Amino acid sequence: MLIDAHIHLDQYQEEEVPLLLDEAQTVIAVSMDLQSCEKTLKLSRAYAKVKAAYGFHPEQSLPNDREKEALFDWIRQHASEMIAVGEVGLPYYRKQTHILDERPFIALLEQFILLAQELHKPIVLHAVYEDALIACDLLEKHGIKKAHFHWFKGSEEAIVRMIHNGYYISITPDCVYEAEIQDLITKYPLELMMVETDGPWPFEGPFDKARTSPSMMAKSIEVIATLKGITTQEAANTVTRNTKLFYDL
Ligand SMILES: [Zn+2]
Repeated sequence: MLIDAHIHLDQYQEEEVPLLLDEAQTVIAVSMDLQSCEKTLKLSRAYAKVKAAYGFHPEQSLPNDREKEALFDWIRQHASEMIAVGEVGLPYYRKQTHILDERPFIALLEQFILLAQELHKPIVLHAVYEDALIACDLLEKHGIKKAHFHWFKGSEEAIVRMIHNGYYISITPDCVYEAEIQDLITKYPLELMMVETDGPWPFEGPFDKARTSPSMMAKSIEVIATLKGITTQEAANTVTRNTKLFYDL
């Protein structure tokens, strides 16, 4: 069984959780905001397979100062029960449909990077296309080594820079039908690769109308194995080892 390196477990119905967990060795459960952090904490206390990450998803309105302070205080108080800071990042998709000033989002991301540094935790990033370069600027500025760019998409420039810095990516089930993700798999070293579902986010192609669950990662492993010219067992072993190494599991 595989490790799901990025899932929004708190967004599923409570009764679905044990069934989802049956399909994975471990899951890295990320959070969207304070309420989501509290739910993720409960899940991690209830199930040993659930490793909690706490953060604020960037594809939504920014928290006000009071909300931000409450979230940061809460994360510091629960630092012993977290595996990483995440999901945090920059609002790439929101920017396509809203007129927004990205500067306060960048400032918030920098605060989360400093928090990860303070708590000695890895950071889980939502930073795609040109935003990946901004994230790299901030990570490099603060000398951060343990960064996981989940569902990464971006330029050759970003790919080269991230590989040079030893940053990890995770491959989503859309690698089965998206040429862009297949191209990324060929370019990125297997040693810096994990797999994820980003569930409950839905997928297309062979996953059309299916509820997203960790068993979908088996298909991603097949694609990775084919593109890297190795067996599925080798791909599964390496990706699992990478995830254990990165998250200190
Ligand atoms: Zn996510």
